[in-house]
Amino acid sequence: MPKTRTRKLRDTEHIALHWRRTKIIATLGPASNTPEMIDKLLAAGVDLVRLNMSHGDHAGHRMMVERIRAAATRANRHIAILMDLCGPKIRVGRFEGDGIDLRRGEKVIVTAAATIGRAGLIPSQYKTIAKDVTKGERILLDDGKLELRVLKSNGKTVQCEVVQGGRLTNNKGMNLPDSNLSTTALTSKDKRDAELAIELEVDFLALSFVRAAKDVQQLQRFLTKHKADIPIISKIERPEAVERMDEIIEASYGIMVARGDLGIELPAEQVPLIQRELIDRARQRAVPVIVATQMLESMLSAARPTRAEVGDVANAALSSADAVMLSGETASGQFPVEAVQTMDKILREIENHQWNTGQFVSASIQVRYQKTHSVREAVGHAAVELARDLRLAALIIPTMTGTTARIMSAHRATAPMFGVTSRETICRRIALHWGIVPLHVDDADTHDWKHLCERVAAQSAIAREGHKVLVIAGFSDDPKQNEPVMKILRL
Ligand code: PEP
Repeated sequence: MPKTRTRKLRDTEHIALHWRRTKIIATLGPASNTPEMIDKLLAAGVDLVRLNMSHGDHAGHRMMVERIRAAATRANRHIAILMDLCGPKIRVGRFEGDGIDLRRGEKVIVTAAATIGRAGLIPSQYKTIAKDVTKGERILLDDGKLELRVLKSNGKTVQCEVVQGGRLTNNKGMNLPDSNLSTTALTSKDKRDAELAIELEVDFLALSFVRAAKDVQQLQRFLTKHKADIPIISKIERPEAVERMDEIIEASYGIMVARGDLGIELPAEQVPLIQRELIDRARQRAVPVIVATQMLESMLSAARPTRAEVGDVANAALSSADAVMLSGETASGQFPVEAVQTMDKILREIENHQWNTGQFVSASIQVRYQKTHSVREAVGHAAVELARDLRLAALIIPTMTGTTARIMSAHRATAPMFGVTSRETICRRIALHWGIVPLHVDDADTHDWKHLCERVAAQSAIAREGHKVLVIAGFSDDPKQNEPVMKILRL
C-alpha cells in the first residue's frame, strides 16, 4: 500500500508536491469553449489546450485561441496551445436518409465518386481508395464497429463483402489498416490549417496518421518555408508508424499515442504494450510523450469515472508519460471540469507515492546513461542524483531554447524543476514536459544566477533562506555545443 496515503505530508513535501509533474491536455469543443469554462478548466489543472481541426472553422479556432490566451493571462499561467491537424483521416460520405444498414454477407460497392450513398453503395471521401486497396484487405467503418472485406477493385470502385454489419451513418470514419496508402501525410486542408497555426503562433502542431519520418519532414519543410518554428508532435496511429517508431521519434519534437485510431488500425489488445514501448523509447531520446483518447470516456455522461479508467490514467503516469489528454470528455462531454479534476487527483496520488519512494527516475534512462556515457546523459543523471542526495529544494533551469529543460525533464528529477526563461514562447513550450514548471523572468534576471534563484524562490515559494538549489544550464542537441554547467547555491 502506498505509504503516503495516510501519512501527513511534511512541509517540504507540501512544497515539492504542489506542482503536478504529469501534464494535462484538454481538447476544447462546444462543451468547453466559453471564457467561463476555459477559466474553470485552467483552475482545475489544465496545462495545454488542444484544438481539434477535424471540427469547426477558422473563425471559430481564431476565437478559441483568443479566449485561451485571455484566460491564461487571467490565471497568470503559461498555457500552451496544441493544434491537431487531421492528416489523411478518411471518412465515408453522406447517405440518403442519413444512413444505411449493412448486413453480414451482403455485397456492397465503395466508391470515391461524389455521390450520395444508399443501400449497397458507400461513398468514400478518400479519392484514391480504389487504387490503394487490394483483394482480401479490410475496410473498417465507424471506429472499427463495422467491417468490410475487399473482393475486388477495378481502380474506380471497390466491391466488398460485409463481415461485421450494423448501421452506417453520414461522415463516419473509415480505416484501411491493411492498405498501403498513397496519400501524402499533409493534405491541402492541413496546409491551410498550418498556415492558420503560424498566423496565430500556436505552440505545437500535431500531425495525424504519420507513417514515416518523411511525413514529419514534409510538415517541417512547410513550416521552414513559412519561417515558422512550431514543434511537431507525431500521432502514432498507423501500423507503419509502430514499425518505424524510432525514426519517427527521432524526427519529431514529441509523439502522441493516439489510441483511438491505433486501436482500430491494430488489434486493441496490442495497444498497451505499444504504448509502453513508445514511452520508453521516446524518453531515452528526451522526446515527450502524450497518452491520448478514452482515458475517462465514461465521464462523457457520468460525473465519476470507472475504476478501469482510473487505472488507465494511473498506468500512463506510472509508465512515465509526459502528458495525458482528454478529448470528447472536455470537448463535448457533460462533465468537462470534473474530468480534469479527476485526472488531477489520480496523477497527484501516483506522484505523491513516487516522490516518497524516490521512483521518478525509472530504469530506461539510466540504461541509456550507462550505455552511452554521453556528456548530456551523464550530467543530467548526476544532477538528479545530487538533487536527491543533498535534498535540494529545486532544480533551477535557465533555458533559452527549452533544450536543457527538456533533457532534465527526461531524467525525472525528484525535486521540482523550474524552467526559467525570458521568452514567453519557450515558457509555453516547456509546459508540455513532465515536471517542468515554466517561469518567465526578464532577460536581465537570467545573468546573475544567485539573483535568479532568489527571484524564482520568491515567485514560487519553493524554498526558504538557507535552502539549497541546483542551477543547471547549457545542454544542446548538438554534441559540439553541449557544454553543461551546474552550480549549487544557498539561498
Ligand atoms: C486518436 O485517434 O486517438 C486521436 C487522438 O486522434 P483524433 O482525436 O483526431 O481521432
